[in-house]
Amino acid sequence: MLKNKTILITGSTSGIGLGIALEFAKQNTNVILNGFGSADDIEAAIKAVQQLTDGEVVYSDANMLKVDEIEQMIENANQQFGMVDILVNNAGIQHVSCVEDFPVQKWDDIIAINLSSAFHTVRLCLPNMRKANWGRIINIASVHGLVASPGKSAYVAAKHGIVGLTKEVALETAEVNITSNAICPAFTLTPLIEQQILNKAKVTGDKKSAIDALLSEKQPSKTFVEVKQLGQLAVFLCSDAAEQMTGTSIPVDGGWTAQ
Ligand code: NAD
Repeated sequence: MLKNKTILITGSTSGIGLGIALEFAKQNTNVILNGFGSADDIEAAIKAVQQLTDGEVVYSDANMLKVDEIEQMIENANQQFGMVDILVNNAGIQHVSCVEDFPVQKWDDIIAINLSSAFHTVRLCLPNMRKANWGRIINIASVHGLVASPGKSAYVAAKHGIVGLTKEVALETAEVNITSNAICPAFTLTPLIEQQILNKAKVTGDKKSAIDALLSEKQPSKTFVEVKQLGQLAVFLCSDAAEQMTGTSIPVDGGWTAQ
């Protein structure tokens, strides 16, 4: 169904983005990976994705903080594949601190990477999606796009923002075959939450009890979301069954936002 489509996933050298890339590779799409990491890690990611798809796998080192690099990344994608059919805005960073101590540079970076980069990729990909009368935009928001937690002002603001952008793009594209949806995961075991676990371990004494404490606080299932589950949901959002789903924000959160 998705064979010959091209997917671009920002921030896909690790964690959720890589998990999504692997699930789309199983659908034989072309895959454009993006993100940072050591040369070895990036090579390993490309290889893992390439093993699953008959399509092409390419890597862009574009920094989502830099508009000119985002523009170049989309231009390269258009030149190589004609267009980006499926756009997944996933790149994200986190910083935990109360508002009055929040480093200003961190605020700016989180808003730029977690929110503004999605505005840029969407505005650059939409013209070709409109021409093709087909496009799927999936924004990896968070439960923090729906509710807040103390210490995460920039992240919560950016994620609420991307939920709003998702709805806005859905309305602007409602009459063409383009959908725009957000996935809102709860705690998923990736490098992004590693620091939060280590900080908690300083209080609880060890990593296992830190993980138990972190999950017990917020996530009723007391179980991490798996990147594979998020990848499979993203594939579903590109299926015919999901054609009338647009503007949604789907929690994958073990009950977090039901509380
Ligand atoms: P991660 O740290 O494993 O992955 C983040 C990815 O973004 C990496 O590939 C990294 O290289 C890339 N990245 C960071 N800064 C970048 C930049 N300036 N330019 C380009 N790429 C950049 O984290 P993750 O947990 O997989 O997070 C992916 C997304 O999922 C984020 O948007 C995050 O907010 C969201 N999310 C994560 C969780 C969780 O518990 N892990 C929960 C909800 C939402």
